[in-house]
Amino acid sequence: MIADEFLAIATPALRHHRGADSVTVSAVEPSPHGPLVRWHGPLLATERERTPKGGATCVGPVPGPFILDVLARTISLRWRDGAPRCPKDWAERLGRRHREVFRDSPFECGAGWRWLWEGAAELMKERGVPPGFRTTQAKEKFGTIRWYYDCSDDYEYTQSLVDSVEHLSAFICEECGKPGRIWQGGWIRCLCPEHANGRKIAGGG
Ligand SMILES: [Zn+2]
Repeated sequence: MIADEFLAIATPALRHHRGADSVTVSAVEPSPHGPLVRWHGPLLATERERTPKGGATCVGPVPGPFILDVLARTISLRWRDGAPRCPKDWAERLGRRHREVFRDSPFECGAGWRWLWEGAAELMKERGVPPGFRTTQAKEKFGTIRWYYDCSDDYEYTQSLVDSVEHLSAFICEECGKPGRIWQGGWIRCLCPEHANGRKIAGGG
C-alpha cells in the first residue's frame, strides 16, 4: 500500500527524467519518521544538469534521487501513526513545530499537503536551516504549491528542496494526500479521483 502510493506519485513526477523507468521499491522499513520506502533508481542522474547559454548557465530540473528522498520522507510521515488522518488545526501545529522554517507564515492550501511541508521542514532542519532563511508565503496557486522565501545565501540544497516540494505537489491530492493529478473545472486543482468529483483533467477532455 505504502510502496504503491510512492510509485503512483513517483512515476508521473519523474516522467521527464532519464532513467525513471529504473526506479523500483525494494522494501518499506521502520524509521523514526514512520515507514520509509527504500527505493533504487540506478539510471537516474544525481546532479543538476548545467548548460552554458549566452553567458548564463541553464540549470536543469532537480535530480530524481533528491525528489524521491523528499517523497519517501513525506509518505513516511503520512503513515507514521497508522492510517493517515489530519487534525483540523494541522496548520497551526505544523507552524509551531517548525517555526524556524515557516516563521508563522500561514499555509494557504489544503490539508493533504501537510506531510509534504513537514517532510521538507524536517529535512531542512536536519541539514541546518540556512542563515536568514524565512518563508514569506506558503500557498496554493494554479493547482500546486508556491513556496516563497528569503535567504541571505544562495543555497542549492534549499532551492532544490523548495523546487521538489512545488513539483511533487502536482501529483499529491491537496485535500487528502493520496496520489493526485491536476484537474480543472472552474478551479485548477491537484486532487485524487475521489476529491476531483467529476472535474475535467487539465489539457484533456
Ligand atoms: Zn483526495
